[in-house]
Amino acid sequence: MTQTIFSKIIAKEVPAEIIYEDDFCLAFNDVNPQAPMHFLIIPKKPIEKISEAQPEDQALLGHLLLKAGEIAADQGYADNFRLVVNNGEGAGQTVFHLHIHVLSGRPLNWPPG
Ligand code: AMP
Repeated sequence: MTQTIFSKIIAKEVPAEIIYEDDFCLAFNDVNPQAPMHFLIIPKKPIEKISEAQPEDQALLGHLLLKAGEIAADQGYADNFRLVVNNGEGAGQTVFHLHIHVLSGRPLNWPPG
């Protein structure tokens, strides 16, 4: 996988507003927020996109989901947030390092568009 801006954030070569970090993942505020709360949670393991994840990534993917909920709760949105994963260019993915968007703080319409 080629280096992305997110691998540079993991390596602390590029600054970001980091709100959570452990051995497996990093969460930081999106630089172009689409809601009052909009952070990204990413695995430290360089997985390009969800469709590239492997069976051995099962625990890691579960970890990301659990932490997304915990961090949203820490930010005051325990029971009201949306997770988004854009997979591939056609779906709007622009950074090819798996990330989950976590959004809240405004009405979130459906369908998302
Ligand atoms: P996606 O379009 O799903 O690939 O989402 C990529 C997201 O990364 C966008 O919401 C961008 O605003 C965000 N982003 C890009 N560069 C940075 C950065 N340096 N720090 C924080 N967020 C970023």
